[in-house]
Amino acid sequence: KKIVIAIDGFSSCGKSTMAKDLAKEIGYIYIDSGAMYRAVTLYCIEHDLFDPDGNIRTEALRQHMDEIHITFRIDTATQRLHTFLNGKDVEEQIRTLEVSSKVSPVSALDFVRHALVRQQQDMGKDKGIVMDGRDIGTAVFPDAELKIFVTASPQIRAKRRYDELCAKGQKASFEDILHNVEERDRIDQTRTVSPLRKAEDAILLDNSNLTLSEQKDWLLDQFKR
Ligand code: C5P
Repeated sequence: KKIVIAIDGFSSCGKSTMAKDLAKEIGYIYIDSGAMYRAVTLYCIEHDLFDPDGNIRTEALRQHMDEIHITFRIDTATQRLHTFLNGKDVEEQIRTLEVSSKVSPVSALDFVRHALVRQQQDMGKDKGIVMDGRDIGTAVFPDAELKIFVTASPQIRAKRRYDELCAKGQKASFEDILHNVEERDRIDQTRTVSPLRKAEDAILLDNSNLTLSEQKDWLLDQFKR
């Protein structure tokens, strides 16, 4: 039986949509690991842990790590998974471009990764889960039974994120989003702890030209093999 399914890949390539759809279809629990890095970043913004130049006050954050508690709960009205930071629903706040532009340096810190990876591993004990992120197949669950690595061109990914933000009524510039997507990819790929890369045994999916339903069928097919 497949217990852990790892979906990794570049920023904004639809990993979470894929992971959510698959989890629903097969009755597994979906966990968004990126939301946890985003919640830590929001905590930093709220607790003045960025200096005026935008650099992280690393030692201060290290002292605060024990006070950062991240949980997930299904919103009963919408049936969607919401992220909670110290008991407060932060699902909306962690998706802003401000958080997106600050999250990659935060997630490059070794002590942040160690803390979150341990929590992610606990969430996957004895349950069927689908987890999406950057290092799920390489570091969090190297023994995952199915590993997918997703990519698409930066332009297509930025366009999707742009449409998503517009649909939510948030103001955004396509150029800013494209820059953010490329910058996150660069930082995620070059950090020292668990850099973003495809696990050797992961199946590569370039979804640049796939519709959502084609993608869903492809993924279900991989699961059934
Ligand atoms: O998946 P999402 O785009 O929400 O992730 C936000 C950021 O969190 C990524 O750009 C990356 O820097 C970091 N991240 C990570 N490892 C994960 C998930 C996310 O470093 N497993």
